[in-house]
Amino acid sequence: FSNIFVAAFSMRVASLFGEDAISSKGMTLNGSQFYTYSVCNVGEREQDNWLRTTFIQRRPAASRVFVELQFIVRDCNSFGDSSVTCKETFNLFTSESDADVGTTFRKGQFKKVATIAPDEITSKNELHINTETRVVENLSRKGFYLAFQDIGACVALLSARVYYKTCPATVKSLASFPETVAGGENQALREVSGVCMDNAISEELPRIYCTVDGEWVVPVGQCQCKSGYEEVKDACQECQAGFFKAAASGDKCEPCPANTQKLNSGALVCPCMDGFYRAPTDPPTGPCSGLPSAPRDLVATTTQLSTGKLLLSWQPPEDTGGRSDITYSIECQRCEGVVCQSCGEKIRYEPASTGLTDTKVSVSELDAHLNYTFTVEAHSGVSLFASQATPRANKPPSTSRTSTSLSLSWDVFPRPRVQSRPIRYELTYRKKDDNLDVTTYIVLILEKNFVQISKLAPGTAYLFRVQALSSDGTPGGSSMEEQFETSLEERLTQNNTAVISCAAVGGAAMLFIVVMVLFLRRRNSHTRQGPEDTYFSKQLKPLKTYVDPHTYEDPNTAVLKFATEIHPSHITKQKVIGAGEFGEVYRGILKVPGRKEVAVAIKTLKPGYSEKQRQDFLSEASIMGQFSHQNIIRLEGVVTKFKHAMIVTEYMENGALDRYLRDHDGEFASFQLVGMLRGIAAGMKYLSDMSYVHRDLAARNILVNNTLECKVSDFGLSRVLEDDPEGTYTTSGGKIPIRWTAPEAIAYRKFTSASDVWSFGIVMWEVMAFGERPYWDMSNHEVMKAINEAFRLPAPMDCPSAVYQLMLQCWLQDRSKRPRFGDIVNLLDKLLRSPDSLKTIADFDPRVSIRLPSTSGSDGSPFRSVSEWLESIKMSQYSENFTCAGVVTMDQVLQMKNEDIKNIGVRLPGHLKRIAYSILGLKDQTSTLSVFAV
Ligand code: AMP
Repeated sequence: FSNIFVAAFSMRVASLFGEDAISSKGMTLNGSQFYTYSVCNVGEREQDNWLRTTFIQRRPAASRVFVELQFIVRDCNSFGDSSVTCKETFNLFTSESDADVGTTFRKGQFKKVATIAPDEITSKNELHINTETRVVENLSRKGFYLAFQDIGACVALLSARVYYKTCPATVKSLASFPETVAGGENQALREVSGVCMDNAISEELPRIYCTVDGEWVVPVGQCQCKSGYEEVKDACQECQAGFFKAAASGDKCEPCPANTQKLNSGALVCPCMDGFYRAPTDPPTGPCSGLPSAPRDLVATTTQLSTGKLLLSWQPPEDTGGRSDITYSIECQRCEGVVCQSCGEKIRYEPASTGLTDTKVSVSELDAHLNYTFTVEAHSGVSLFASQATPRANKPPSTSRTSTSLSLSWDVFPRPRVQSRPIRYELTYRKKDDNLDVTTYIVLILEKNFVQISKLAPGTAYLFRVQALSSDGTPGGSSMEEQFETSLEERLTQNNTAVISCAAVGGAAMLFIVVMVLFLRRRNSHTRQGPEDTYFSKQLKPLKTYVDPHTYEDPNTAVLKFATEIHPSHITKQKVIGAGEFGEVYRGILKVPGRKEVAVAIKTLKPGYSEKQRQDFLSEASIMGQFSHQNIIRLEGVVTKFKHAMIVTEYMENGALDRYLRDHDGEFASFQLVGMLRGIAAGMKYLSDMSYVHRDLAARNILVNNTLECKVSDFGLSRVLEDDPEGTYTTSGGKIPIRWTAPEAIAYRKFTSASDVWSFGIVMWEVMAFGERPYWDMSNHEVMKAINEAFRLPAPMDCPSAVYQLMLQCWLQDRSKRPRFGDIVNLLDKLLRSPDSLKTIADFDPRVSIRLPSTSGSDGSPFRSVSEWLESIKMSQYSENFTCAGVVTMDQVLQMKNEDIKNIGVRLPGHLKRIAYSILGLKDQTSTLSVFAV
């Protein structure tokens, strides 16, 4: 029995007591050699023979032991006369002890356990071996002895087995319980706590009871395999590939539902396959659904031409994508040539233009003689998620695939509103097996939604992604990467020209119809042939484009794609230098084996983060990792595979630009400041060329190194603005740093490179004003009001006129008129090449440019003391110079000339000017005040 512990017990070394009555000898029984102890003094009276075991050590928990004896007792009748004194029993005794007492033996220390009698007596002819088991309870000392007392029997002891019982180590309901010694009379059921198996969890501590007989009974508190695992033979095993389990339960993993990706083992949920989605109300464990196909058979019936009324009706889509929540929306456009315009608010739809569940709508208030285009879109609960252009290889592939070329076509859904109709596409592709160096991407800007790409390698997989660009160049949603392969051999296809596939894919499916209404009225409107049109004609212009990490279903893939994984042992943190939204920023050292040691900044993710926060944190690295420019903060790498995620970037000794300039107020010449701006503009040009819109460009997000090089930083996704203390919540829930943001971006979230240019203008102002806060202490509301009323920041003190003119250009209301970053870099370069151009200083109005508190009283100066005045213009460091020179009243200050200021020890030109200008302003204000006083 596995649960029976047999104590070492040797009769051979047992001590013999009592007049040599007991002898030991070997005997053969059933072919086996036995060592036996026997006594047979049946004819003599008052026998008292003892046999004692050696010391039996006791395991602490074993308070109850079993003694199993095998013995033979001779029949007294077989001894004739001796039978009078002959006995047929013997006694079992025990004595507890904490130590082995050797051969010392005292009868008095032994307690009787039982009288042992045979079931069957051995007669002359027949040998009977008896087995009897007795229990010794309540043992408490370190060990014990057993002793056998013979009182005149003819008995042979063949064996004694001493054991206790245990409940063996076991696993019950996914909890493991250790081997447990069974209890005794005083504790018949022993409660034992267990531990859940790996990858199993329980709400309640698992428990079970061990009985005296070594059996487990009544398990309490079940463990269950956690999500992604199922129970297989008393253990939790990862769900197989293609299966998932969303929560801890006793259930088995389920096969991934329809239209989901069959992930590797251990999936918690099965994400939707590309092109399939779950609506917010769909359970995350349910199937994914596709987008509906286009509505069919759209018909327009003119009911009352004279009143400008139409009835549009159509058939539901052939393919509803497996959903029943199909609705329709109508869009009306008036197109002339390629120029389309929304029909505007005037047109009436009955019952409505959106959310229609019926397949008809009546349209009224149409003008006669005009050409209207109606678009009916089918939507479903998942349309929302599909603002992506999905590239699609023409089918069948034989018509569009050769060994060196691929034809692709795609469509974009949901169709953008008329104002931002996509008129070009950015197709990015690369060889699948290329290493992930982003520079190997080829980007084509296309006006059409199809293309044939030739000169490809035969039998090679390429990855494609399409991004729709709206008419103003704003990047729209982009598709997931799709893979297509060129064929292995040159196989002439029947038709290898590009074919437009009209297959409807994407967020909503549409059907167009052109409704002719009598005459086509010619209008003299000219299509605007802006610079963009020329741009389009350069169709195959390869350039590098920023890839939004959001296009990756798994943000971790994006990080690994764009950033190098660093082993944490290569990073040494030295000192905290700042605090970001996600955790502390450290200065430190990066030492990758085989590479030079570099100083780095290490952004950390504070403990207790959620998975979303981790992804948001790392998104900054996914973005930064795509850039490589002198004026963009360089990503060294990331730590994602360890618990403490980190982002490691180059170290910028002088920290944030706003702070740096405030600390060095007046210490730089215009030339140096413009040099800084040139760097920032170059970085921004690079970003805008990559179609990246920063949205939070401000001096606080520019970092400065020890050679005064400025680099653009802060590239988070959600953290853009959320992280920024300047961000102000808007009613739509977003956060906008009002002072730095272009009006259209505040008004309708139109963030573009042109809005970044506005922000750059503010950065120019911040730099030229040595880190002064834009619009000083005006409230956000006052700033917005002022901007609306065409007010712009005045020139900072000492600002070259050309630089201020450029700021004003950046702040043009009409964003299309603002300079582009390319123009800005060129202009700043020009200024730097001819320093004379910086000599003309912009008009400076000290009353506006130096923050003056509201005046109180009519006693001339609004300041009560010189120190109060110096503090207001942030020149307190000169308080002592003024006092030492005996300038102690504001009247004296007002009398000071530039020379006097220099003489009292103000040397830095910037400071000198600040003080002088302030005095000028005060004089001006004093006279104004006196005028009022009169
Ligand atoms: P951030 O979370 O990027 O706003 O960083 C918080 C602060 O840490 C910044 O304002 C800087 O003072 C500092 N910091 C961030 N990155 C760097 C860097 N690369 N070099 C030096 N200081 C940095």
